[in-house]
Amino acid sequence: MQTGTLYTVSAPSGAGKTSLVKALVDSDRDVTVSVSHTTRTMRPGEQHGINYHFVERDEFLQMLDRDAFLEHAQVFDNFYGTSKEWVQETLASGRDVILEIDWQGAAQVRRQLPDTVGIFILPPSQQALRERLTGRGQDEQSVIERRMDQAIDEMTHYVEADYLVINDNFDEALHELRAIITAQRQRLERQQERHGELLQALLRH
Ligand code: GDP
Ligand code: ADP
Ligand code: 5GP
Repeated sequence: MQTGTLYTVSAPSGAGKTSLVKALVDSDRDVTVSVSHTTRTMRPGEQHGINYHFVERDEFLQMLDRDAFLEHAQVFDNFYGTSKEWVQETLASGRDVILEIDWQGAAQVRRQLPDTVGIFILPPSQQALRERLTGRGQDEQSVIERRMDQAIDEMTHYVEADYLVINDNFDEALHELRAIITAQRQRLERQQERHGELLQALLRH
């Protein structure tokens, strides 16, 4: 059984990361997204176990002690972390896994698992980013202003990624995201795993 590829998708808050990743995994059964643990409060419309595993700060810290996280980070005033066990089991089952995590988390994952593929998503302008954060209507104005500031800091980390997608037209950005996953599956090492017998047979005299 071949193992899946691990991707990190990072972006400033509001760039469209969650919408793009959701559209991608809804249309491709071989790729799935990790559900993070977080200490932040649930937003309207969010569901436990779907958007996040919402946990109390104490529980998060206990998990941290147990080394249950592949990576974790503090973003704004909240903790976020990725379950190590779930990621390992899912990759072992042959599916690709996407981690929708901030740049700090992506760097931690890359250090542990150097084959991880990093994707960064950027908005087409600062103005568009502000409009999307406002349009989503889930955060108060003061929170949005803080997120704009942090978004600019987060965006400086795009240089650490392997691939860059500008989310201007949604469908085009989705197409580009799919193209990255497809190209990655055609890499020589992956194809050798998948088509070992064919490659042997083709080269037989
Ligand atoms: P949104 O980006 O505005 O939708 O807000 P979220 O609450 O969904 O995510 C907030 C930040 O936490 C983003 O920068 C995410 O990339 C990051 N994040 C989410 N889950 C994880 C995780 O499991 N680990 C790490 N390191 N970062 C995460
Ligand atoms: P993130 O997860 O990066 O914070 P979301 O996926 O929640 O971003 O998107 C933020 C808001 O922007 C949502 O309301 C979403 O519908 C909207 N959005 C995402 N992509 C686009 C796009 N290409 N054009 C216009 N609006 C978009
Ligand atoms: P939000 O609170 O808006 O859902 O997310 C805030 C930020 O935290 C986003 O930039 C998101 O990518 C990041 N984030 C969410 N989950 C995780 C996680 O498990 N690990 C890390 N490192 N960052 C996360």
